[in-house]
Amino acid sequence: MDLDETDVNILKVLQVNGRLSFRQISEKVKVSVPTVSSKISSMEDMGIIRGYQTDLDAERLGELSVVLTIKAKPSELKAVADRFQTDDHVRKLFTLSNGRLLMICTFGGPYAINDFVSRLGEVPEIAEYDISNIISVAKEQQRALVETNVSLVLQCAYCKKEIRDDPLRLRGDEKDYYLCCSTCLKSFQEKYERLKAKT
Ligand SMILES: [Zn+2]
Repeated sequence: MDLDETDVNILKVLQVNGRLSFRQISEKVKVSVPTVSSKISSMEDMGIIRGYQTDLDAERLGELSVVLTIKAKPSELKAVADRFQTDDHVRKLFTLSNGRLLMICTFGGPYAINDFVSRLGEVPEIAEYDISNIISVAKEQQRALVETNVSLVLQCAYCKKEIRDDPLRLRGDEKDYYLCCSTCLKSFQEKYERLKAKT
């Protein structure tokens, strides 16, 4: 599975302006409206397009952001990440290859930062951390870079692992699901039928 040139062009257009209508996109990319619509919905199903959000400026909202790196034992890194995952102040959270977590956090003011930092001391798994305030933003873009020849790495809808071989596809009522193997397909199918029976 790969993206064709039209997919790539649609993504480029959408990445600049996510509010364009299918008609406006079809004029820019020079394909029909139904093609735009079906390509966008399949890229949503594949998880390439995660959503359409308003790009807000934290500085104009008077907010302060910090970059925080946390060091923990490799065996405890995931537990630390889990702990911060649901915290609204944590806007980005990455696990790095050097055994650290990198977080970008945003706060309404300096007092909220102090509160947050004092809570770090209460997490026993944290061996050490380093924190710096962001004082100006020279560049801030989405991480995805739309280039030609991008290759797809889909995620299994059941086990959440990356799909290495050809994905199996399950057609749902409203969207398609991608699975890594027949075991996951079967389990997901059962789960899907159960959920459907409930609603
Ligand atoms: Zn799987």
